[in-house]
Amino acid sequence: MQLLDSETALIKISHCKKDIFFPYVPKYCPLCRQSVSCRRLEDAPVSIPSPFVNGHREKCSFLLKPTSGTFLRGYDGNSDLHVGITSTNGLVYNYNETGINRGEHGWEQCINVPLVQPDMYALLKQWDTYLEQFSAAEIWRPYRYEEHVHNCYTYALTFINCVLSAQGKQQMNKSEFTEKFVIPRTRKASKYITVYKEICKNGFYVVDRLEQENDSSTENRLL
Ligand SMILES: [Zn+2]
Repeated sequence: MQLLDSETALIKISHCKKDIFFPYVPKYCPLCRQSVSCRRLEDAPVSIPSPFVNGHREKCSFLLKPTSGTFLRGYDGNSDLHVGITSTNGLVYNYNETGINRGEHGWEQCINVPLVQPDMYALLKQWDTYLEQFSAAEIWRPYRYEEHVHNCYTYALTFINCVLSAQGKQQMNKSEFTEKFVIPRTRKASKYITVYKEICKNGFYVVDRLEQENDSSTENRLL
């Protein structure tokens, strides 16, 4: 089994009326053994970027990862997920049964939702203070934690809503936030995970061209 870097872009070529995914641009088509030359522009190799980022390098983001293991190792599609909010300097604030954690590591392979436009200087400047003050509240003490109703998601979304209302914007409930910001990204990630695992096993992955949906879904930003 071949191991790939989780931030590696995969390569898609079109040959034999199939889409074939590789970890690199191949010389030959694995189906017909012919040389892969691009006579037509639409057959040129396409790069499929990894949907995962190192959360410690993302500022002011909402992060999502499996509670244990990583998306590419150990995640089966139903595993428990954990979420957090990043500071401007690599700390991932998150809430669990032990209270508030300020993670310096462990969030290296995440799905992220950037929350702030890079030119929102006033908000960026205040962000770490907001996050720290918000996290000091009594409702985030360990004894207040309840797995299904007062959990990591409650913490992250309540913080997001505080920021939204400070910006004079409308708050969001869990399903609005999840549908608009999280699901488009998890959908992309789940496709990538499938392709990644098949490539690790077999060296490449083949799908019928017609089955491929248009993957140009736009990714929303909160503010
Ligand atoms: Zn071929």
